[in-house]
Amino acid sequence: MASIDSTSLVSQPKPLNILLVASEAVPFAKTGGLADVAGTLPLELTRLGHRVSLIMLGYSMIDASTHGLTPWGQLSVPTATGPKEAIVECGVLPDATLPAGRQAQIFAVRHDPYFARKGLYQESGADYPDNLERFAFFCRAVVQWLVEFQNKAKWVPDVIHAHDWQTALCLAYLKILYVDYTQHHAVGTLFTIHNLGYQGLFPASDYPKTGLPPSLFVPSGLEFYGSCNILKSGLIYADLLSTVSETYSREIQTPEFGFGLDGLIRERHDRLVGVVNGIDTNVWNPATDTHLPAHYCATEVSGKRACKSALQHEMKLPVKDVPLLAVVSRLSVQKGLDLVAAIVPELMRLNVQLVLLGAGDVSAEDQWRSLHGRYPHQLGLRIGFDEGLAHRIEAGADLFVMPSRYEPCGLNQLYSLRYGTVPIVRRTGGLADTVVPYTPTTVQERRATGFMFGEASADALLNAVLLALQVYKDRTEWSRLIQTAMQTDVSWARSTRAYEAVYRQTLRSVRGDS
Ligand code: ADP
Repeated sequence: MASIDSTSLVSQPKPLNILLVASEAVPFAKTGGLADVAGTLPLELTRLGHRVSLIMLGYSMIDASTHGLTPWGQLSVPTATGPKEAIVECGVLPDATLPAGRQAQIFAVRHDPYFARKGLYQESGADYPDNLERFAFFCRAVVQWLVEFQNKAKWVPDVIHAHDWQTALCLAYLKILYVDYTQHHAVGTLFTIHNLGYQGLFPASDYPKTGLPPSLFVPSGLEFYGSCNILKSGLIYADLLSTVSETYSREIQTPEFGFGLDGLIRERHDRLVGVVNGIDTNVWNPATDTHLPAHYCATEVSGKRACKSALQHEMKLPVKDVPLLAVVSRLSVQKGLDLVAAIVPELMRLNVQLVLLGAGDVSAEDQWRSLHGRYPHQLGLRIGFDEGLAHRIEAGADLFVMPSRYEPCGLNQLYSLRYGTVPIVRRTGGLADTVVPYTPTTVQERRATGFMFGEASADALLNAVLLALQVYKDRTEWSRLIQTAMQTDVSWARSTRAYEAVYRQTLRSVRGDS
C-alpha cells in the first residue's frame, strides 16, 4: 500500500519577499566576510523558496557586462544638498544550481561621483572623507527605490535585512522619513552587526548630511559622545538585531567588546539573536575548487599533499615535508597578528614554515615585510588581496592560525575545517562557537577539530601551536583530526533556516502574523 507523505499535508508557511541591503557582496565587490555573507545568503534563501533581492552600491569595479547587469531605471535621490541622480542596474546573482526563473536578483546603485573610486571605503589606508555622504546617499536611494519599485515591479518586501553601519541609515529613513510607506506595508526589519568595531563615526558637524531631523541628534538618537554614530541608526530603528555568532551576541553586551555601545545593546537584548555564518560549499569545495592544482575530499585526502607542495613552490619556500602554518587575513589590530609576529623567531627555530597573505595597516605590512626579509626560506609572504591564493593556502597548509582579539564569526576557520587545515584559534566570538578544541575529552569522543587558547598573549598562542605540532607528529591522530574537521557541517543550511525564523519573528513584531 502506498504511504502518504504526512509532511505534504502540513501547510507550508508562505514564502517571503526578502530584500538584503549590503555595501559589498561576492562576486561583485569584496573586502571581507560581509561580502561572502551578502552574496551567499540570498542564494540560500532562494533555494528555500523565498523571493530574494540584494541591493548594493554600483562601484566602478563592478563591470555591468561582465556581470550581466542591465539598466533598470533612474532615481532622483533627495540629499541634504538637493536631489542627485542615481542609476540602478539589475541582474541575477550567479548560481548554476538554481533553476532558471528561481534566481535571486541583484540591484546596483550607481552614482559615479561617489562610487567610481579605487576602493570601497578607503584608499591607501585612509577612509574617504565623504563616506557619510556616500552611504547616506546609498541608503536614501535604497528607500526611494523601494517606493518606486513597488509601482514598477509589483514587489514589496516583507522583510528588509540590512548589514553593518553602511546600510544602517535605511532603517532610520524608513521609520522617520518614509513612515507612510512602512505604515502601509508593515515591513519587518532586521539589522545585522558583522563587526561592532566599525560604527561609522563622523564629526557632529556632519550630522545634517544624514538628512534626519536635528531632534534625533541626541544621546538616545545618533549622537555618541559628541560625535555622529551611524551604526546607532540600525541598533535603534531595526525591529530585530542579529550578530554573526551566539558568543559574539553575548560579548557585545559587555564593556570589553561593546565599543561604547554595550549599554544600548543591553537595552535591546531581547531583540538580539546570534546566527553563525555558513560558507558557500560550492565555491569552497576542495573536491572541485578551480583555484587548486589538485583535488581531494574527506575520504581521499592525498590531493592535499600535492596542494601543499604547489603552495610551497608558489610562495618560494623549500618543497619539503614540514608543518606548514598559514594566515589569510586583514592586517588589523583585531586579528591579533602581532601575536603571530611576536612568536615568529620561536617558530623559525622549530622546523616549520609559515605563509601569510594579508593587507591592511601599513605598519603591520612593513613588520611582515621585514620578518620576511629575515626568514625568506621559512616565511612565505604576499601582501595584497588575492582570492585564488587564499583558496590555495586553505588547501595547501596544515594549520591555520587565527589569534583574533575579537572575532564576530570568522570565515577562514570554516574554510579551514572544510579543507582539512586544522585551525588554531583564540576562544572568542564565532571562533569559540565553530571550532571544537583539542582536549582529552573531545579527542576521546572524536569531536576535536582544532586547537584553542584563551588569553590574547604570544605565550598562550605559542603553547597552542606547540601542542598542535606535537599532535601533528602522530600521523594517525592527525588524520583523525582532519577527518572530523572535514566532516563538520559548515554549510549555510542551518544558518539560513535560522534567518528564516528571525525574518518571521520580525513580521510577527510588526504585523502580529508570520
Ligand atoms: P573579516 O570579515 O573580519 O575580514 P572573516 O574571516 O569573516 O574576516 O572574512 C574574511 C574573508 O576575506 C575571508 O573570505 C578571507 O578568505 C578573505 N580575505 C581576507 N584577507 C584576504 C586577502 N588578503 N586575500 C584574499 N582573501 C582575503
